[in-house]
Amino acid sequence: MSLFSAVTMAPRDPILGLNEQFAADPNPHKVNLGVGVYFDDNGKLPLLQCVQSAEKALMEQPTPRGYLPIDGIPAYNAGVKNLVFGAGSEPLQSGRVATVQALGGTGGLKIGADFLKKLNPGAKVLISDPSWENHRALFTQAGFEVGTYRYYDATTRSLNFEGMLADLKAAAPGTIVVLHACCHNPTGYDLDAAQWSQVVATVQARGLVPFLDMAYQGFAQGIAEDGAVVGKFVAAGLQCFVATSFSKSFSLYGERVGALSVVCADPDEAARVLSQLKIVIRTNYSNPPTHGGAVVAKVLGDASLRAQWEQELGAMRSRIKLMRQKLVEGLRAAGVPQDMDFITRQVGMFSYSGLSTEQMQRLRSEFGVYGTDTGRMCVAALNSKNVDYVCQAIAKVV
Ligand code: PMP
Repeated sequence: MSLFSAVTMAPRDPILGLNEQFAADPNPHKVNLGVGVYFDDNGKLPLLQCVQSAEKALMEQPTPRGYLPIDGIPAYNAGVKNLVFGAGSEPLQSGRVATVQALGGTGGLKIGADFLKKLNPGAKVLISDPSWENHRALFTQAGFEVGTYRYYDATTRSLNFEGMLADLKAAAPGTIVVLHACCHNPTGYDLDAAQWSQVVATVQARGLVPFLDMAYQGFAQGIAEDGAVVGKFVAAGLQCFVATSFSKSFSLYGERVGALSVVCADPDEAARVLSQLKIVIRTNYSNPPTHGGAVVAKVLGDASLRAQWEQELGAMRSRIKLMRQKLVEGLRAAGVPQDMDFITRQVGMFSYSGLSTEQMQRLRSEFGVYGTDTGRMCVAALNSKNVDYVCQAIAKVV
């Protein structure tokens, strides 16, 4: 009898399973719209110029690789704070934000979840319905009971804002509410400014704990514009959590660069919170890795590299918008009778296409076009060479 004979096989990650299927597909026209990764117009994963320049500069002055502080590179955390809250903003000036470097956005979420579990073990967590798959798994793994608030209405193919607000109003005080700060994954539908104000007021009135997941800052409208959502919670005087990811915005997926910021009432509280976040980190992986953080810190701290980054990020954002337009035009040209304009009202890397599971499966088996069964497609993987083919394939299954 082996020690592991009782271990059952865990279900496969649905997206990774899709990737394997895609890799094995001999169709020469195949297109992978499954995974949430930005590709350039040649279908290649970009290596940003600002990243290459920062790496070159770092290589020219090689530094030994000692352990980083538990909370990461100070210049990196300062850069994150400026991006998320705005340089010179009140919470930064008063020193009441605790920020730690994390292993991607996922790491930021997990540090926050573990900290919250110790702080308030009985709290429930609410995520959007639907949400990024890992939200539920991650908060469940941290020991929380995870429920949902309404977000998307499949029949109208739009936000169910009334439902969302009603569910938040019905939540018990202390409930942790995970909110996508921008570029909602998987639907692509974001709240507008007035709706955010209502959410902030509800969170405040009900005494909920806002946990903003900001995995795509800069992909909706721009860095400052997307960050404005955080500013609304801060302006209301709320304490809140913000998980940052640079995986997409720097195209540094494998470097695992992210952060967690916690807005506290005052500097003394921020110091106490930071000390607890450091315990979570110390007992999980001790301290973060050096390279990705050093690259991002270099770019954010150097005026010309920072300008180059904003230009490159802007180009990614514009290209995605262009692909949304081409998709709508191409679907119309391919004879799709339905109004598909909603695709251009969505933002970020994903589109909920409204296609059924059966239609998504036909797209895969007959045309080699891979999206998830839920109808989610990564529009950031479309390009000038594959978009027409995708439109024609969709036209044949709808
Ligand atoms: N949150 C959301 C909503 C995401 O879409 C992702 C990435 N797919 C993450 C968090 C995690 O980002 P990272 O890869 O930096 O861990």
